[in-house]
Amino acid sequence: MSDGKTHDFITISTSPVIGCLAAQMSATVAVTTTIGYLVGGLLLSPDLDVKSRPWRRWGWLRFIWLPYQKLVPHRSWISHTPIVGTLIQLSYLGAIVLLAATLLGIDVWTIVRVVVDRQQDVGEGNPWSVNCFALITGLCLGSWAHLVADTLSSLGKHKKKKRRP
Ligand SMILES: [Zn+2]
Repeated sequence: MSDGKTHDFITISTSPVIGCLAAQMSATVAVTTTIGYLVGGLLLSPDLDVKSRPWRRWGWLRFIWLPYQKLVPHRSWISHTPIVGTLIQLSYLGAIVLLAATLLGIDVWTIVRVVVDRQQDVGEGNPWSVNCFALITGLCLGSWAHLVADTLSSLGKHKKKKRRP
């Protein structure tokens, strides 16, 4: 398994590649995908299932991931499966936000309805849905880069062990 510094380096150094690829669609999609990629690698990482660098970056909000860490064993399929892991984390985060809003008496559904209605006014094929998709794609790719590094690192360690007499 790669360490946190290596994961950070991989995420930051490969983010321009993601931005350039996404720029084929539009500049806005490139920015949104790259932001998603950086957040997916540095903040919403598969390693949120342990007390890791990404977890520490949440600052005083890091406590919200403690139940997740209790429920999800480190490197289990729940946190370390491409796309699924990110979607589970987003669902978990959404549930926490919903719970907090409910406790604070904020009517989230009214806010969501207003935002959705505004987007429908803009018309079909509006950039909002495209950018939403770009953001989630970026988040998943950021997580995927982490998983690839973990896999390559594990394979490297496995080969080293095999070579020993
Ligand atoms: Zn990991």
